[in-house]
Amino acid sequence: MNAPIRFDTKLLDAALAAIRRDHALFIDGKLVNSADGRVLERISPAHGVLVTRCQQAGIAETEMAIAAARAAFDSGVWSRIKGADRAAVLLKVADMIEANAEEIALLDCLEAGKPIAQARVEIAGSADIWRYAAALARDLHGESYNTLGEAALGVVVREPVGVVSIITPWNFPFLIVAQKLPFALAAGCTCVVKPSEFTSASTLVLGEMLAKAGLPAGVVNIIAGLGSEIGPMMTSDARVDMVSFTGSTIVGKGAVRASADTLKKVSMELGGKNPQVIFADCDWDAAIDAVLFGAFFNAGECCNAGSRILVQKSMAAEFVAKLVARSRDVTVGDPLDENTRVGAMITAKHQSQVQNHITQAVKDGAKIACGGTAPAMATGMFLEPTILTELRPEMAVALEEVFGPVLSVLTFETHEEAIALANSTIYGLSASVWSMNVDTCLQIARHVHAGTVWINTFMDGFSELPFGGYKQSGLGRELGRHSVKDYTEEKTIHFHSEARTSWWMPQKR
Ligand code: NDP
Repeated sequence: MNAPIRFDTKLLDAALAAIRRDHALFIDGKLVNSADGRVLERISPAHGVLVTRCQQAGIAETEMAIAAARAAFDSGVWSRIKGADRAAVLLKVADMIEANAEEIALLDCLEAGKPIAQARVEIAGSADIWRYAAALARDLHGESYNTLGEAALGVVVREPVGVVSIITPWNFPFLIVAQKLPFALAAGCTCVVKPSEFTSASTLVLGEMLAKAGLPAGVVNIIAGLGSEIGPMMTSDARVDMVSFTGSTIVGKGAVRASADTLKKVSMELGGKNPQVIFADCDWDAAIDAVLFGAFFNAGECCNAGSRILVQKSMAAEFVAKLVARSRDVTVGDPLDENTRVGAMITAKHQSQVQNHITQAVKDGAKIACGGTAPAMATGMFLEPTILTELRPEMAVALEEVFGPVLSVLTFETHEEAIALANSTIYGLSASVWSMNVDTCLQIARHVHAGTVWINTFMDGFSELPFGGYKQSGLGRELGRHSVKDYTEEKTIHFHSEARTSWWMPQKR
């Protein structure tokens, strides 16, 4: 077991002094309190103290937000202006994110329990995504066909899809909204945004920046609230044209069902059980570092977590021994400490679900090579980095998303076996392959069913590269140059010139 974790109260006091504690909803360009006085109070999962209070939207505020987004879209105040003008607003938002980066990082750190050093990287990455989306706003265009004969010219234009409901989870509060909102705005859409009930503050702070950057009232409306209460309206209301959701596969499927009656466009980023396939000829030190990062980054609460490794049998015992030894150096602790690598779990309920996965795995025959329990802590929900060995591929822990700092180890002998194991879950978000042999790398990359395959690295991300899942990991892609197009409809405009010659009815002379 790692050493007991100690908290420095001075760090917490300084953090609380540096953030805004009370947050209003942002509807139709105004800061709004909830009509019934309800508030979401967030207790920091690491420190056990109240850190933020967000006004809580119910049906009345959701109605106001959807109505404002619809009216703003139909007015053309955003949907019909020049791409360059939309880009100018997005660039100002990016500047403001950078100017307020420390407060936003502290909000995500305190509400989600994630390490502050990591939160800072996420906020910097978010600003970069807003800038990338601004560039795409100016480049959005359709196609033309000048090959249809003398009398025809085909022009395919792209138009914003309309009102988009954006629903985000708690694990990367500010980063995930950045993967959706600026692209929807670049396309000319208007939006209703609902962050997770546990991590609403940084998204509500974004609302104030949008207003200051000159975004017209009603174009973005941000409502904090319970998904079970307001989510169904956001995903089924006839005034909403598209749902962009990131979260669990089960809730995502419900959102697709709710949107089906009005046949909305949907974009779904859901769960994962991502394999890292490790061959004996790889750079062991690099692979070990990436495996620890993949499994324990963000306390494993990551759709992209490399939560299972498939290790070539000839190397498995020695590799796992080195991995276990190195995992003891992973610093679990106060998220406000710059040196912390693994912070707190999001809620006590989630922590106990993760522990239940470990208990069940042991009942099914797994061996705990390290971790498996909560470290000694004064407060907070923490779990030690856990590595499970002696697994059979059909065991639940090898197939299901655990969403905690738990790594499953499986072994293989042949390339074909590695590919079959990698493809053996319902998910297909990401994967990696580790080998110095380029043929091996390409074979795995080509045959694994996943939206992203990394070769000799893991979880690197760029705004330019599309991200999303095969199978039950999702529908559609975010980021990349096509992401703005996802928030558009295509319209064909067919010009006919000269006299019409292809008469349907016989012509009278
Ligand atoms: P959930 O699916 O529980 O929640 C996601 C969002 O949906 C939250 O804002 C939630 O609100 C809301 N919601 C809940 N019920 C409904 C409903 N009936 N209709 C509409 N919205 C609803 O996921 P978590 O927040 O627990 O996040 C963890 C999950 O997200 C993991 O399974 C993970 O794999 C996945 N994820 C996927 C990513 C990807 O890109 N593929 C990225 C990050 C996470 P509330 O907070 O009130 O419950």
